[in-house]
Amino acid sequence: MAFELPDLPYDYDALEPHIDERTMRIHHDKHHAGYTRKLNNALEGHDDLQEHSIEELLAGIDSLPADVQTAVRQNGGGFYNHRLFWTTMSPDGGGTPNSDLGDAIDEAFGSFEDFKSHFADAATGQFGSGWGWLVAEPSGALSVTSTPNQDNPLMEGHTPILGVDVWEHAYYLHYQNERGSYVNAWWNVVDWDAVADNYDAVASA
Ligand code: MN
Repeated sequence: MAFELPDLPYDYDALEPHIDERTMRIHHDKHHAGYTRKLNNALEGHDDLQEHSIEELLAGIDSLPADVQTAVRQNGGGFYNHRLFWTTMSPDGGGTPNSDLGDAIDEAFGSFEDFKSHFADAATGQFGSGWGWLVAEPSGALSVTSTPNQDNPLMEGHTPILGVDVWEHAYYLHYQNERGSYVNAWWNVVDWDAVADNYDAVASA
């Protein structure tokens, strides 16, 4: 069973003006497609590993055979991270989370604005390429973190419910070196209903 590149759940230009069509086309059709293809190539001949979900493979990254570990870390990470990224954005995004997630954010960070500040600091402060994350625990607790390259919190035993891609390929065409401007605009497309669904799936586990 091979992993499949998921379609975007909206048109390539749907997130404009915050994320431009050309960036979305290259990001999905080239970058995400490449991670997916290379993940499948790495798992060729490893029938036992192909039976696992991507979440299982990444959570167990340290126990994978040495000959596939780096390829799964990089390309399996890229496959998973971008899938989460697309599905937590929407042309109808922005605003604030309500319900249990909103309460958990207030509890963890003091307020939604304080959360955004912590998250933006983590994302913009990540040296080089990587991701900023909002992570949920089964207890319902939330935290903010960042990882380099295509690493993600699954590899450390935690579950991300929202992530922002801060590789230059995610923003350079429109924002050039202004990573902070990109993150600031990205809040306008965050789909808080989708993030709340992710939160409920973790916190009720
Ligand atoms: Mn990317």
